[in-house]
Amino acid sequence: DVQQQKSDSVAAVKHMKWWGWGVEGVAFHHDDKPAFAPFVKKIVGVELSSGQHDTGLKFDDLTVPASIAGPEVVDSLVQIVGADAVATDDHDRVVHTYGKSIRDLIRIRAGILARVPDLVVYPADEAQVQQIVDLAVASDLVVIPFGGGSNIVGSLEPLPAETRTIVSLDMGRLDRVLDIDEDSGLARIQAGGQGPDLEEQLNARGWTLGHFPDSFTHSTLGGWVATRSSGMQSDKYGDIADITKGLRVVRPGGVLAIRAVPSASTGPSLREMIIGSEGRLGVITEVTAQVHRLPEKREILAYLFPSWHDGLAAMQAIAESDASPSVTRVSDSHETAFSFATSKPGKGISQKITDLLPTLLKAKGWDVDAMCLSFIGYEGGPEHVARTQKTVGRIVKANRGMAVGTGPGKLYDQKKFDTPYLRDFFMDHGGAADVSETAAPWSKLRDVSSRVYAAANQAFDRIGVQGWIMGHLSHSYHSGACLYFTFAFEHGDDAEAQYDVVKHAIQQAFIDTGATVSHHHGVGLEHQPWMSQDVSPEGVAVMQGLFDSADPGRVFNPGKVT
Ligand code: FAD
Repeated sequence: DVQQQKSDSVAAVKHMKWWGWGVEGVAFHHDDKPAFAPFVKKIVGVELSSGQHDTGLKFDDLTVPASIAGPEVVDSLVQIVGADAVATDDHDRVVHTYGKSIRDLIRIRAGILARVPDLVVYPADEAQVQQIVDLAVASDLVVIPFGGGSNIVGSLEPLPAETRTIVSLDMGRLDRVLDIDEDSGLARIQAGGQGPDLEEQLNARGWTLGHFPDSFTHSTLGGWVATRSSGMQSDKYGDIADITKGLRVVRPGGVLAIRAVPSASTGPSLREMIIGSEGRLGVITEVTAQVHRLPEKREILAYLFPSWHDGLAAMQAIAESDASPSVTRVSDSHETAFSFATSKPGKGISQKITDLLPTLLKAKGWDVDAMCLSFIGYEGGPEHVARTQKTVGRIVKANRGMAVGTGPGKLYDQKKFDTPYLRDFFMDHGGAADVSETAAPWSKLRDVSSRVYAAANQAFDRIGVQGWIMGHLSHSYHSGACLYFTFAFEHGDDAEAQYDVVKHAIQQAFIDTGATVSHHHGVGLEHQPWMSQDVSPEGVAVMQGLFDSADPGRVFNPGKVT
């Protein structure tokens, strides 16, 4: 057993709670949001307690399968990274087993640990990653690269029947911005850095990556690339697939290096093959990313629309216009009601809208229950921001919407990274909640959203629960947009089976309406059942052929994606 004092740099690697989202000691409560508990009771019948809730979960209650790593493997890894950077203790191994999907959380809370990595290794640089990979191939080990552990598609968990030694390769020590080519706006960045650490280093030199997924605080650049992630400001900065220009990927015997050029005509794109490969083609050690100068001005404005259809029409018109906002987002009426219920009285979204309600109802004859809240972000020089706001203002008006000002947008911007804590609190009270996201052409979006609602409601009926579904549009493109749905219900004894029914119904509705199985969460194990319907059986065969030839020994995160 290798249980040494960890060196500073290994100890500095940040991990989330073994049982839930974020850091120990931080939790959601609703004491300052009086409308929240009655709202939750009304929509799903779950009774919430007040104050901070103690989950009662104890790590020592878990039965963790013993590590099967033999002393030779441990010794060889210690030779490469040093004794302090190899962990075989149960806590480290469990933290590296799952991501943060509802399925993961249900299982970890129930102590279900079919297969756990046998050891965790923390390389300090690319040369060590290369040695680990070469050892893994020579010794028939499995390597699962680990970023922040925030994925929600089962792309980290070891296959239950795996009999070989499984190494979780934690990239957390490779967290530096190495170099910025200021002429070109290109930064060489190590893959293991988490969002806030990378932005801090870039911001200090006047730059930003512009990639802000809701999981920003606990996910890594390598994880974003490996799952084809998308951030809130993607309308301006692009998805990670647009941001990633060059790559270094450690493979058996050498590094696959993709040079950072603006565009290339060099056969099928290797860069695109690595993006979304979920660890199956090797270990991403470095990304050359396009970076932007920090914007002079940054604002998020809130708008209201009388209906979901008006909101969607406005987002489409904005995408077709000359305006180029950084964020386009509109919530449907259910999500709008949810946002009001999570506001604090006296400020924020609900107060501003409460103040406006008499005017709205009288002057416009709106049905308040159908109302939809939208946030549009603006970034850049003052002239660009002013011009874009003017164009957006005209489009909003033409689609029967109205501006609400900057207050709610500011609040949304400040609070967005706190929301994930809510799900753990909801689970403490017997609730289950998760998300499904997709993208579709503008012509199909309305159909996608109504068919998803119908499918989810039928699924709730089938499992006999009072369920709730809500959604929003985010990430607009020339030809369409991403739709993101959250669903929740009070679960019974078999939460995982109930979740499967609802999740399956929603994902199948995506496929049946011509939408994709995932816009930005990836495939993992969770979305695999729909892959051949999404990319065609031939497409799956081509992907499988790639994985088989690039990794004949099934060393790299086997079983994920296809
Ligand atoms: P991990 O979960 O550690 O790993 C994910 C996959 O990538 C695994 O297959 C792993 O093997 C592989 N991998 C990781 N690092 C490397 C590497 N260096 N080389 C090769 N393979 C690697 N996603 C979004 O895109 N946008 C969002 O707004 C968003 N919001 C979220 C909010 C919440 C509350 C949660 C729980 C998740 C959210 N996600 C979101 C999903 C998740 O954060 C992303 O999938 C993220 O990109 C995962 O990054 P990670 O560093 O945590 O990767």
